Amino acid sequence: MSTKPPPNCRYYYEDFHRGREVSECRLPKSRDSAHWERSVCDTCRVPEILRETNCAHLALEGTIRKKRFGERMEIFSVCTKHMVQLADGRTCAQCQAEQDALLDE
Ligand SMILES: [Zn+2]
Repeated sequence: MSTKPPPNCRYYYEDFHRGREVSECRLPKSRDSAHWERSVCDTCRVPEILRETNCAHLALEGTIRKKRFGERMEIFSVCTKHMVQLADGRTCAQCQAEQDALLDE
């Protein structure tokens, strides 16, 4: 069991009440994803992306990859409104353009 504070992430779930020891990542995962362990959260960029994104229709999918020095979460980001894959989930050019247009009105 990790002694670190729980990740500040909307996909992280834990339940340690009454002897239960449940913790899991509820981010949708691709079929290639390795099994999640709590340590994946320590380097995962999902919370940062959710905090900083300008995309109002962001969908994320994770793939946990085993690396030599531990697991890493690879993140696949899509804007579900514009149906485009985002190179960086924090910025969606098309949502940005819409927001700019609203400000101009
Ligand atoms: Zn978008």
